[in-house]
Amino acid sequence: MSIVDMRGRQIDYARISVTDRCNYRCVYCMPEEGVKSVSHGDILRYEEIIWLARILVSLGIRHIRFTGGEPLVRRGMAEFLVDFRREFPDIALSMTTNASLITGARAMITAARLSSLNISLDTLDPEKFASITRVGDIESVMSGISAALECGIGVVKTNTVLIRGFNDDELPRTLNFAWDKGMTPRIIEFMPLSEGLWGTDKFVGASEVLRIAGSLGNWAPVTTTGGSSRGPAAYYADAATGRSFGIIEAVSNHFCSSCNRLRITASGNMRACLFNNEEIPLMKLIRELDEDGVIRAVTAGINLKPEEWRGAADGAGVMSGIGG
Ligand code: SAM
Ligand code: SF4
Repeated sequence: MSIVDMRGRQIDYARISVTDRCNYRCVYCMPEEGVKSVSHGDILRYEEIIWLARILVSLGIRHIRFTGGEPLVRRGMAEFLVDFRREFPDIALSMTTNASLITGARAMITAARLSSLNISLDTLDPEKFASITRVGDIESVMSGISAALECGIGVVKTNTVLIRGFNDDELPRTLNFAWDKGMTPRIIEFMPLSEGLWGTDKFVGASEVLRIAGSLGNWAPVTTTGGSSRGPAAYYADAATGRSFGIIEAVSNHFCSSCNRLRITASGNMRACLFNNEEIPLMKLIRELDEDGVIRAVTAGINLKPEEWRGAADGAGVMSGIGG
Protein backbone atom coordinates (compact mmCIF):
# COMPACT_ATOMS: atom_id res chain seq x y z
CA MET A 1 0.00 0.00 0.00
CA SER A 2 1.27 3.49 -0.66
CA ILE A 3 -0.14 7.00 -0.81
CA VAL A 4 0.43 8.52 -4.20
CA ASP A 5 -0.93 11.97 -4.94
CA MET A 6 -2.57 12.95 -8.20
CA ARG A 7 0.77 14.17 -9.52
CA GLY A 8 2.41 10.81 -8.91
CA ARG A 9 4.38 11.75 -5.80
CA GLN A 10 4.69 8.89 -3.37
CA ILE A 11 4.13 10.05 0.20
CA ASP A 12 6.05 7.93 2.71
CA TYR A 13 7.13 10.46 5.34
CA ALA A 14 4.99 12.07 8.05
CA ARG A 15 6.10 14.89 10.32
CA ILE A 16 3.98 14.99 13.45
CA SER A 17 4.04 18.06 15.67
CA VAL A 18 3.42 17.00 19.26
CA THR A 19 3.17 20.52 20.67
CA ASP A 20 3.15 24.12 19.53
CA ARG A 21 4.87 25.17 22.77
CA CYS A 22 8.56 25.83 23.13
CA ASN A 23 11.03 26.85 25.79
CA TYR A 24 12.79 29.08 23.23
CA ARG A 25 11.58 32.01 21.16
CA CYS A 26 13.84 31.88 18.10
CA VAL A 27 13.43 35.19 16.33
CA TYR A 28 12.75 33.60 12.93
CA CYS A 29 10.18 31.17 14.31
CA MET A 30 8.12 32.73 17.10
CA PRO A 31 7.17 36.17 18.34
CA GLU A 32 8.75 37.22 21.64
CA GLU A 33 5.55 36.66 23.60
CA GLY A 34 5.19 33.17 22.11
CA VAL A 35 2.19 32.00 20.13
CA LYS A 36 -1.25 31.50 21.61
CA SER A 37 -0.99 27.90 22.73
CA VAL A 38 -3.65 25.39 21.90
CA SER A 39 -5.14 24.12 25.18
CA HIS A 40 -4.07 20.67 26.37
CA GLY A 41 -7.46 19.15 25.61
CA ASP A 42 -7.26 20.27 22.01
CA ILE A 43 -3.97 18.64 21.09
CA LEU A 44 -3.58 15.06 20.00
CA ARG A 45 -3.17 12.73 22.97
CA TYR A 46 -0.31 10.27 22.77
CA GLU A 47 -2.65 7.32 22.28
CA GLU A 48 -4.37 9.24 19.47
CA ILE A 49 -1.03 9.81 17.77
CA ILE A 50 -0.38 6.06 17.91
CA TRP A 51 -3.86 5.31 16.56
CA LEU A 52 -3.35 7.76 13.69
CA ALA A 53 0.17 6.48 13.02
CA ARG A 54 -1.18 2.93 12.62
CA ILE A 55 -3.39 4.21 9.81
CA LEU A 56 -0.60 6.24 8.24
CA VAL A 57 1.76 3.26 8.33
CA SER A 58 -0.93 1.02 6.83
CA LEU A 59 -1.19 3.59 4.01
CA GLY A 60 2.54 3.41 3.29
CA ILE A 61 4.22 5.92 5.61
CA ARG A 62 7.68 4.52 6.40
CA HIS A 63 9.26 7.41 8.28
CA ILE A 64 7.74 9.39 11.13
CA ARG A 65 9.43 12.44 12.63
CA PHE A 66 8.28 14.13 15.81
CA THR A 67 8.71 17.85 15.94
CA GLY A 68 7.03 20.90 17.45
CA GLY A 69 7.40 23.54 18.99
CA GLU A 70 9.91 21.74 21.12
CA PRO A 71 8.83 18.09 21.41
CA LEU A 72 10.65 17.53 24.70
CA VAL A 73 8.71 20.28 26.53
CA ARG A 74 5.64 18.09 26.30
CA ARG A 75 5.27 16.08 29.47
CA GLY A 76 5.87 12.37 28.93
CA MET A 77 7.40 12.82 25.48
CA ALA A 78 10.51 10.74 26.15
CA GLU A 79 8.40 7.87 27.52
CA PHE A 80 6.10 8.23 24.53
CA LEU A 81 9.04 7.79 22.16
CA VAL A 82 9.73 4.41 23.76
CA ASP A 83 6.06 3.37 23.54
CA PHE A 84 5.91 4.53 19.94
CA ARG A 85 9.01 2.56 19.01
CA ARG A 86 7.57 -0.54 20.70
CA GLU A 87 4.44 -0.15 18.59
CA PHE A 88 6.38 0.50 15.35
CA PRO A 89 9.66 -1.41 15.59
CA ASP A 90 10.48 -1.28 11.89
CA ILE A 91 9.81 2.25 10.69
CA ALA A 92 12.35 5.06 10.52
CA LEU A 93 11.70 7.15 13.63
CA SER A 94 13.22 10.55 14.16
CA MET A 95 12.85 13.78 16.07
CA THR A 96 13.79 17.43 15.59
CA THR A 97 14.77 19.25 18.77
CA ASN A 98 16.62 22.25 20.10
CA ALA A 99 18.53 19.73 22.31
CA SER A 100 18.18 21.78 25.50
CA LEU A 101 16.21 19.05 27.29
CA ILE A 102 17.93 15.93 26.01
CA THR A 103 20.15 15.31 29.01
CA GLY A 104 17.28 14.31 31.29
CA ALA A 105 15.73 12.16 28.56
CA ARG A 106 18.87 10.27 27.61
CA ALA A 107 17.78 6.81 28.83
CA MET A 108 14.41 7.00 27.05
CA ILE A 109 15.91 8.34 23.84
CA THR A 110 18.37 5.46 23.86
CA ALA A 111 15.54 2.97 24.41
CA ALA A 112 13.54 4.50 21.58
CA ARG A 113 16.22 3.54 19.05
CA LEU A 114 15.84 6.70 16.99
CA SER A 115 16.94 6.40 13.38
CA SER A 116 17.95 10.03 13.33
CA LEU A 117 17.91 13.15 15.45
CA ASN A 118 18.06 16.69 14.08
CA ILE A 119 19.40 19.32 16.43
CA SER A 120 18.94 23.02 15.78
CA LEU A 121 22.12 24.98 16.32
CA ASP A 122 22.36 28.36 14.65
CA THR A 123 25.51 29.66 16.29
CA LEU A 124 28.33 28.55 18.55
CA ASP A 125 28.66 31.95 20.15
CA PRO A 126 26.93 32.03 23.58
CA GLU A 127 25.80 35.65 23.25
CA LYS A 128 24.51 35.24 19.73
CA PHE A 129 22.79 32.04 20.82
CA ALA A 130 21.02 33.90 23.63
CA SER A 131 19.94 36.61 21.20
CA ILE A 132 18.65 34.35 18.39
CA THR A 133 16.70 32.14 20.82
CA ARG A 134 15.83 35.19 22.98
CA VAL A 135 16.04 33.02 26.13
CA GLY A 136 18.34 30.09 25.39
CA ASP A 137 21.52 29.06 27.13
CA ILE A 138 24.02 27.38 24.81
CA GLU A 139 25.46 25.31 27.66
CA SER A 140 22.28 23.25 27.96
CA VAL A 141 22.40 22.61 24.22
CA MET A 142 26.05 21.57 24.33
CA SER A 143 25.22 19.14 27.16
CA GLY A 144 22.24 17.94 25.15
CA ILE A 145 24.42 17.30 22.12
CA SER A 146 26.89 15.31 24.21
CA ALA A 147 24.04 13.29 25.69
CA ALA A 148 22.50 12.69 22.26
CA LEU A 149 25.78 11.37 20.94
CA GLU A 150 25.69 8.70 23.66
CA CYS A 151 22.21 7.46 22.76
CA GLY A 152 23.19 5.17 19.89
CA ILE A 153 21.14 7.15 17.36
CA GLY A 154 21.67 6.19 13.71
CA VAL A 155 22.39 9.69 12.41
CA VAL A 156 22.66 12.96 14.34
CA LYS A 157 22.40 16.10 12.24
CA THR A 158 22.62 19.76 13.06
CA ASN A 159 20.25 22.30 11.50
CA THR A 160 21.58 25.83 11.07
CA VAL A 161 19.41 28.59 9.66
CA LEU A 162 21.85 30.92 7.93
CA ILE A 163 21.12 34.63 8.28
CA ARG A 164 23.35 37.20 6.63
CA GLY A 165 25.00 39.53 9.09
CA PHE A 166 24.19 37.21 11.97
CA ASN A 167 25.87 33.83 11.51
CA ASP A 168 27.08 33.63 7.91
CA ASP A 169 30.60 34.43 9.15
CA GLU A 170 30.47 31.33 11.35
CA LEU A 171 29.68 28.86 8.60
CA PRO A 172 33.09 27.10 8.45
CA ARG A 173 33.19 26.88 12.24
CA THR A 174 29.66 25.49 12.37
CA LEU A 175 30.47 22.80 9.79
CA ASN A 176 33.72 21.84 11.51
CA PHE A 177 32.00 21.63 14.89
CA ALA A 178 29.48 19.10 13.58
CA TRP A 179 32.06 17.01 11.72
CA ASP A 180 34.39 16.92 14.70
CA LYS A 181 31.59 15.41 16.78
CA GLY A 182 30.57 12.90 14.12
CA MET A 183 27.36 14.75 13.17
CA THR A 184 26.12 15.71 9.71
CA PRO A 185 25.64 19.47 9.42
CA ARG A 186 22.76 20.89 7.43
CA ILE A 187 22.35 24.50 6.45
CA ILE A 188 18.78 25.72 6.11
CA GLU A 189 17.94 28.59 3.83
CA PHE A 190 16.14 31.23 5.86
CA MET A 191 12.47 30.97 4.91
CA PRO A 192 10.20 34.02 4.84
CA LEU A 193 7.79 32.79 7.49
CA SER A 194 8.17 35.39 10.19
CA GLU A 195 6.85 38.89 9.68
CA GLY A 196 9.34 41.71 9.60
CA LEU A 197 12.54 39.75 10.03
CA TRP A 198 13.09 38.10 6.66
CA GLY A 199 14.54 40.16 3.85
CA THR A 200 16.59 39.49 0.74
CA ASP A 201 19.47 41.26 2.48
CA LYS A 202 19.36 38.57 5.21
CA PHE A 203 19.04 35.64 2.84
CA VAL A 204 22.02 33.44 2.03
CA GLY A 205 21.30 31.02 -0.81
CA ALA A 206 22.64 27.55 -1.46
CA SER A 207 25.14 28.72 -4.09
CA GLU A 208 26.78 31.04 -1.60
CA VAL A 209 26.87 28.32 1.05
CA LEU A 210 28.67 26.08 -1.43
CA ARG A 211 31.11 28.84 -2.29
CA ILE A 212 32.00 29.43 1.37
CA ALA A 213 32.19 25.69 2.09
CA GLY A 214 34.58 25.40 -0.88
CA SER A 215 37.42 26.40 1.43
CA LEU A 216 36.81 23.22 3.47
CA GLY A 217 36.66 20.54 0.82
CA ASN A 218 36.04 19.47 -2.70
CA TRP A 219 32.29 19.02 -2.70
CA ALA A 220 30.39 16.80 -5.10
CA PRO A 221 26.62 16.29 -4.96
CA VAL A 222 25.53 12.94 -3.54
CA THR A 223 22.08 11.44 -3.54
CA THR A 224 21.95 9.98 -0.03
CA THR A 225 23.95 10.35 3.13
CA GLY A 226 22.70 7.84 5.61
CA GLY A 227 19.45 9.68 6.27
CA SER A 228 16.25 7.76 6.60
CA SER A 229 14.26 9.26 3.77
CA ARG A 230 14.76 11.42 0.77
CA GLY A 231 13.91 14.98 1.51
CA PRO A 232 14.52 18.60 0.76
CA ALA A 233 18.22 18.61 1.59
CA ALA A 234 20.75 18.47 -1.20
CA TYR A 235 23.85 16.70 0.11
CA TYR A 236 27.47 17.24 -0.81
CA ALA A 237 30.42 15.04 0.05
CA ASP A 238 34.16 15.30 -0.10
CA ALA A 239 35.66 11.99 -1.26
CA ALA A 240 39.04 12.67 0.34
CA THR A 241 37.76 13.24 3.89
CA GLY A 242 34.43 11.37 3.71
CA ARG A 243 32.75 14.45 5.17
CA SER A 244 29.35 15.56 3.98
CA PHE A 245 26.85 18.31 4.61
CA GLY A 246 23.35 19.19 3.46
CA ILE A 247 21.68 22.37 2.30
CA ILE A 248 17.92 22.70 2.66
CA GLU A 249 17.26 24.71 -0.44
CA ALA A 250 13.72 25.56 0.55
CA VAL A 251 13.75 28.94 -1.14
CA SER A 252 16.27 28.85 -4.00
CA ASN A 253 15.49 25.38 -5.31
CA HIS A 254 12.05 24.16 -4.41
CA PHE A 255 11.80 20.46 -3.96
CA CYS A 256 8.08 20.26 -4.69
CA SER A 257 8.39 17.76 -7.53
CA SER A 258 9.99 15.17 -5.24
CA CYS A 259 8.16 16.10 -2.03
CA ASN A 260 7.30 12.93 -0.13
CA ARG A 261 5.86 14.32 3.09
CA LEU A 262 2.72 15.19 4.92
CA ARG A 263 2.44 17.08 8.17
CA ILE A 264 0.17 16.62 11.17
CA THR A 265 -0.19 19.62 13.46
CA ALA A 266 -0.42 19.32 17.23
CA SER A 267 -4.13 20.09 17.03
CA GLY A 268 -4.74 17.20 14.70
CA ASN A 269 -4.91 18.85 11.31
CA MET A 270 -3.11 17.59 8.26
CA ARG A 271 -1.09 19.89 6.07
CA ALA A 272 -0.10 18.75 2.63
CA CYS A 273 2.50 21.50 2.25
CA LEU A 274 4.49 23.71 4.62
CA PHE A 275 3.85 26.69 2.38
CA ASN A 276 0.13 26.12 1.95
CA ASN A 277 -2.12 27.27 4.81
CA GLU A 278 -4.93 24.89 3.94
CA GLU A 279 -5.44 22.30 6.67
CA ILE A 280 -7.48 19.13 6.61
CA PRO A 281 -9.16 18.61 9.99
CA LEU A 282 -8.58 15.11 11.34
CA MET A 283 -9.15 15.59 15.08
CA LYS A 284 -12.92 14.94 15.05
CA LEU A 285 -12.45 11.82 12.93
CA ILE A 286 -9.67 10.62 15.22
CA ARG A 287 -11.74 11.20 18.37
CA GLU A 288 -14.65 9.30 16.80
CA LEU A 289 -12.23 6.47 15.89
CA ASP A 290 -13.48 6.85 12.33
CA GLU A 291 -10.75 4.93 10.53
CA ASP A 292 -12.40 5.05 7.10
CA GLY A 293 -12.98 8.78 7.50
CA VAL A 294 -9.30 9.38 8.33
CA ILE A 295 -8.17 7.31 5.35
CA ARG A 296 -10.50 9.24 3.05
CA ALA A 297 -9.40 12.60 4.45
CA VAL A 298 -5.68 11.81 4.21
CA THR A 299 -5.78 10.33 0.71
CA ALA A 300 -7.93 13.19 -0.60
CA GLY A 301 -6.08 15.87 1.37
CA ILE A 302 -2.73 14.90 -0.03
CA ASN A 303 -3.86 16.30 -3.36
CA LEU A 304 -3.71 19.79 -1.84
CA LYS A 305 0.04 19.46 -2.22
CA PRO A 306 0.78 22.05 -4.89
CA GLU A 307 2.63 21.10 -8.03
CA GLU A 308 5.12 23.87 -7.45
CA TRP A 309 6.06 26.56 -4.94
CA ARG A 310 3.53 29.37 -4.77
CA GLY A 311 5.27 31.50 -2.18
CA ALA A 312 5.32 31.27 1.56
CA ALA A 313 2.51 31.23 4.03
CA ASP A 314 2.99 34.24 6.25
CA GLY A 315 2.73 35.00 9.92
CA ALA A 316 5.09 34.54 12.84
CA GLY A 317 4.56 31.33 14.70
CA VAL A 318 3.86 29.35 11.57
CA MET A 319 6.91 27.14 11.97
CA SER A 320 6.41 26.44 15.64
CA GLY A 321 2.83 25.39 14.97
CA ILE A 322 3.59 23.12 12.03
CA GLY A 323 6.95 21.84 13.07
CA GLY A 324 9.13 23.04 10.19
N1 SAM B 1 12.07 23.07 18.33
C1 SAM B 1 12.67 22.13 17.44
C2 SAM B 1 13.93 22.71 16.82
O1 SAM B 1 14.14 23.92 16.90
O2 SAM B 1 14.67 21.95 16.23
C3 SAM B 1 11.74 21.61 16.37
C4 SAM B 1 10.78 22.57 15.72
S1 SAM B 1 11.53 23.83 14.70
C5 SAM B 1 10.09 24.70 14.14
C6 SAM B 1 12.05 22.89 13.29
C7 SAM B 1 13.06 23.55 12.41
O3 SAM B 1 12.46 24.66 11.75
C8 SAM B 1 14.29 24.09 13.13
O4 SAM B 1 15.45 23.49 12.59
C9 SAM B 1 14.26 25.57 12.84
O5 SAM B 1 15.55 26.10 12.71
C10 SAM B 1 13.50 25.61 11.55
N2 SAM B 1 12.91 26.92 11.25
C11 SAM B 1 12.01 27.61 12.00
N3 SAM B 1 11.71 28.79 11.40
C12 SAM B 1 12.44 28.84 10.25
C13 SAM B 1 12.57 29.80 9.19
N4 SAM B 1 11.90 30.94 9.19
N5 SAM B 1 13.43 29.51 8.17
C14 SAM B 1 14.11 28.34 8.15
N6 SAM B 1 14.01 27.40 9.11
C15 SAM B 1 13.21 27.65 10.15
FE1 SF4 C 1 11.37 26.67 19.47
FE2 SF4 C 1 12.45 25.27 17.48
FE3 SF4 C 1 10.96 27.45 16.95
FE4 SF4 C 1 13.33 27.77 18.10
S1 SF4 C 1 12.95 26.90 16.04
S2 SF4 C 1 11.39 28.76 18.75
S3 SF4 C 1 13.51 25.98 19.36
S4 SF4 C 1 10.23 25.59 17.86
